[in-house]
Amino acid sequence: MPVPDRPKNVVVLGSTGSIGESSLKVARDIPGRMKVVGLAANRSVETLADQINEFGIKQGCLYDPTGLDSLIARVPTDVALHTGEEGLIELATMPEADLVLIAIVGVAGLRPALAAIEAGKDIAVASKEILVMAGETVMNAAREKGVRVLPVDSEHNAIFQCLEDRSSADVSRLILTASGGPFRELPSGQLAAVTKAQALKHPTWEMGQKITIDSATLFNKGLEMIEARWLFDIEMARVDVIVHPQSIVHSMVEFIDSSVLAQLSTTDMCFPIQYAITWPERVPNTLPPLDFAELARLDFEAPRWEDFPALNLAKEAGTRGGTLPAVMNAANEVAVAAFLEEKIAFPAIWETVEKTMSCHHWKEKPSLEEIIDADLEARSKAAEFIS
Ligand code: MG
Repeated sequence: MPVPDRPKNVVVLGSTGSIGESSLKVARDIPGRMKVVGLAANRSVETLADQINEFGIKQGCLYDPTGLDSLIARVPTDVALHTGEEGLIELATMPEADLVLIAIVGVAGLRPALAAIEAGKDIAVASKEILVMAGETVMNAAREKGVRVLPVDSEHNAIFQCLEDRSSADVSRLILTASGGPFRELPSGQLAAVTKAQALKHPTWEMGQKITIDSATLFNKGLEMIEARWLFDIEMARVDVIVHPQSIVHSMVEFIDSSVLAQLSTTDMCFPIQYAITWPERVPNTLPPLDFAELARLDFEAPRWEDFPALNLAKEAGTRGGTLPAVMNAANEVAVAAFLEEKIAFPAIWETVEKTMSCHHWKEKPSLEEIIDADLEARSKAAEFIS
């Protein structure tokens, strides 16, 4: 394949979060292949201003307009600054952008993602909510426009690498690996007494608070099962999970001939981000290679389906589809926030999600508006159950 004569122009939505910062590390590491042309953040004014200045960005967006004056004071006068959802959409559809990386937490990335697709851009998706809530809508829109949805989540990026564009007809199982979280070995009777500080200690990955709690409940893996179902056009029954405490094998694909391919690397989000940016090429970088002799062993074990109901709830949501995944996701967000505020116990996270899902009036073929309504309704239901 010929080497492209210019770097890919990339817009990063959510540039001050954990994935956003890693994506800028990648941009510094492979400047000949990745050029950042637009940056958007929620409200971290100082960090965003530093990034805009470092990369010489001409288009920026601060989602929360409160800090706009302070941002204007920190960047050159020729930088165009936008705010709110319209601002995100403005960046997502910039004429010079080749690829839009969406790393915004929550539902705020959904409309910008669809706008980018509509404008003919490839998107790299780090925000789980986009595919969990509206996977069918997003993948259909991408197919129609002939653009790619490139996974940044390490598990899906691993599967993407193993599949190499093969159809799901060749696949017998997608096997997502899970670290098992900090409570992998904790007896089920002790889960009720788990504290916020214990839940925030992830054994292998450094991540934001919400996703770290999701890793402890296994909702993160549940959300990823649903993501995989849409990304790779495969029904839930062929999406499986295995616990792998070292987080070195990022996921696997078992083909119909029972042969398995896996993707391995050290635990650094720069690996999947770089591959999503440079795909279909591989380019050298400064990331550390694996030292197998030092690793010595890789362990695998079955997940504790009974003790961590998040997996079964996700299986149900992903199998039924429609509005149910959005409801599961929304209720979980509300419950995790309440747990982080120390208002509810750890098991109340999945209990809240389960109750919210069971009282939901399900729609099989929802429009985008109906999905967003289901999300809002689930949020108020979950908040009700909590108080
Ligand atoms: Mg992941």
